[in-house]
Amino acid sequence: MKETVGTHGLVFNEPLLWEKGAAGRNGFSMPPRDVPESPLDEALAGDGPDFPDLSEVDVVRHFTRLSQWNFGVDSGMYPLGSCTMKYNPKTNERQATLPGFTGAHPLLPAELCQGTLQLMYDLQEFLAAITGLPAVTVQPAAGSQGELTGMLIFAAYHKSKGKARHKILIPDTAHGTNPASAALCGFKAVAVASNERGVLSPETVAGLMDEDTAGIMITNPNTLGLFEENIHEVARIVHDKGGLVYGDGANMNAIMGIVDVSQLGVDVMHLNLHKTFSTPHGGGGPGSGPVCVTSELAPFLPVPRVVKTQKGYELSEDFPQSVGKLHAFYGNFGILIRAYSYILSMGAAGLKKATQLAVLNANYIKEKLKGDFHLPYDRPCMHECVFNDKNQEAYRVTTLDIAKRLMEYGFHPPTVYFPLVVHGAIMVEPTETECKQDIDAFIETMKAIAAEARENPKLLHEAPQITKVRRLDETLAARKPRLTG
Ligand SMILES: *Cc1c(COP(=O)(O)O)cnc(C)c1O
Repeated sequence: MKETVGTHGLVFNEPLLWEKGAAGRNGFSMPPRDVPESPLDEALAGDGPDFPDLSEVDVVRHFTRLSQWNFGVDSGMYPLGSCTMKYNPKTNERQATLPGFTGAHPLLPAELCQGTLQLMYDLQEFLAAITGLPAVTVQPAAGSQGELTGMLIFAAYHKSKGKARHKILIPDTAHGTNPASAALCGFKAVAVASNERGVLSPETVAGLMDEDTAGIMITNPNTLGLFEENIHEVARIVHDKGGLVYGDGANMNAIMGIVDVSQLGVDVMHLNLHKTFSTPHGGGGPGSGPVCVTSELAPFLPVPRVVKTQKGYELSEDFPQSVGKLHAFYGNFGILIRAYSYILSMGAAGLKKATQLAVLNANYIKEKLKGDFHLPYDRPCMHECVFNDKNQEAYRVTTLDIAKRLMEYGFHPPTVYFPLVVHGAIMVEPTETECKQDIDAFIETMKAIAAEARENPKLLHEAPQITKVRRLDETLAARKPRLTG
């Protein structure tokens, strides 16, 4: 490889502002005093806060350099499986900063914020159209909080039928938040093994489903990037025993505009606006996990709900069966604006096209790399494909080594070691917003790394060498984070 996306030079070190400042340095000049000096009251005088003395250029360089250490989807390809790190068009940011929105206080009376209420209402309608599930709340702040909402709805539904249920079925490919959300609601998670095709078998589900089981949580496509081809049958089995079907919609980028989720038999589903509907995420920023439900489950949705009356839009608490409130006020409103703007600017045809390209790109990578990296499930995938490090085992090269080496070539590594059903998983999700040239560069790099593993595995074992920090002791970093420089 002649050229890499990453760079070698001009990666600056940067001390803390406190280490950098020098006494007496100033960020601006005060005009000469034109009044007599008047000492401060004894009680108020003192050394003042421990702020570093810095010039303007010190501050600008400090923050500019720190920003350059960051890697985001605006700096390069970020094929982090399950996270849908697609490019977020800047127009969505622009709409989110319109003063009418940023200045709206959440306690304004309804008649003074009709526009914000309408935006929430319309977004609910859009998400209902996209999923086929007619009633929606935009309150939850993340996919995982959407799951929690869903589980609360499951519990409330069974209670309303007169009998609490205690178990919930969760496939072994599920995201860790699924069993966690179920457990928070007091359900016991029962693992469902996926079959040799990487999907759920109706027989396995039938063997586990009983009348003490509240339902099943299904991610479709699942975290192997495979469409749950038996979902219809699985949903029927669960419904026949009085259970409900939860759809984890984190992978909506694979089916948006193509699959009507309600027809698959899903009763409740969350969407991750920060994944599929284009909000910058990662690093723990705000998210949004709207929940869409069937009309039968609508009475249980969180309050307040945005309703449309003859007088206009209102927030209503008048839903006696509601599971209650999930978030301060009505949700992370800034994310709702971005999703609304994204959906309107893409249009229905654009959303469908995005899905088609996301699936095409993942299959392209899968086909191009399957000679170099082992593909545990060699069949058409959806928006992501999962390899592992089996072919590299002979050279004692692991998934972690491959991920670290990728950084030296200027690519954010894919998701590694997840899903757990694949030993040494490398989960690649290119998304629809990468062009063929960049995808080809990624493929070429992965091929070069596969060749290095055979010919010079030391390069991989010792990677990364040219990044700001070398290989970290991840256990130590997690257990004893050093947060002060
Ligand atoms: C991201 C993800 C979640 C959790 O969503 P958050 O918004 O991160 O809380 C749940 N399930 C799957 C499959 C995911 O990829």
